[in-house]
Amino acid sequence: IIEITGLNKWFGQFHALRDIDLTVERRERIVICGPSGSGKSTLIRCINRLEEHQEGTVVVDGVALTHNLKNIDAVRREVGMVFQQFNLFPHLTVLENCTLAPIWVRKMPKAEAQQLGMQYLERVKIPEQAMKYPGQLSGGQQQRVAIARSLCMKPNIMLFDEPTSALDPEMIKEVLEVMVDLAESGMTMLVVTHEMGFAEQVANRVIFMDAGQIVEQNTPDEFFNNPQSDRTKLFLSQIL
Ligand code: ATP
Ligand code: MG
Repeated sequence: IIEITGLNKWFGQFHALRDIDLTVERRERIVICGPSGSGKSTLIRCINRLEEHQEGTVVVDGVALTHNLKNIDAVRREVGMVFQQFNLFPHLTVLENCTLAPIWVRKMPKAEAQQLGMQYLERVKIPEQAMKYPGQLSGGQQQRVAIARSLCMKPNIMLFDEPTSALDPEMIKEVLEVMVDLAESGMTMLVVTHEMGFAEQVANRVIFMDAGQIVEQNTPDEFFNNPQSDRTKLFLSQIL
């Protein structure tokens, strides 16, 4: 469902992604880890063209990401993204946050969008918060709203960039539970996280990045118990 070949990306002189090749099949759950500045965010942002790449090809569900705006729109419509900072609209209620894109992008009738929004707020276990504003919710609740909002667009792929990094420890679990549930439902997921428990439980593949490259990738079991490269070993010794 995602086919990346020979991807290179520079920020000015800085070579941020080097010769990335990555194929993701439908229903895969991939965890991406690696040190700060290794290019994890940049890589997943290239998948929905939040970042533009200079070399190589990125094809998402058969659509190549180029300067073609139609292609970019098509890909963004089917790829959901959840960030470390929840990026909810503060002046809209929780439910309005969820219905905005279905109404304006999908042209869905308002009542239908509201029904859909409630359905996904139930799925992330906060239907009772629908009429509140994001500022009235805890961090964990806000992140669950962000996930519900993405799901309302019925994405085929969900990208997560450190979704629990801004949360207090007691709220991390409730967000991870929603993500585990999503994985079990068969969603194709790419997750940048240092939650190695989540990786072991959910991922079918763990990718380790360093200095803009994919250094190593393996099943979680092999990755944690039998890391191949010295850089991976060093990284694991620092975070586990
Ligand atoms: P972290 O774990 O800290 O989130 P990361 O692996 O997600 O790190 P990226 O955010 O992808 O790292 O950044 C990779 C490199 O690219 C870093 O050195 C960063 O400083 C640089 N970089 C990222 N975005 C930009 C930008 N917009 N302009 C210039 N350099 C950037
Ligand atoms: Mg990052």
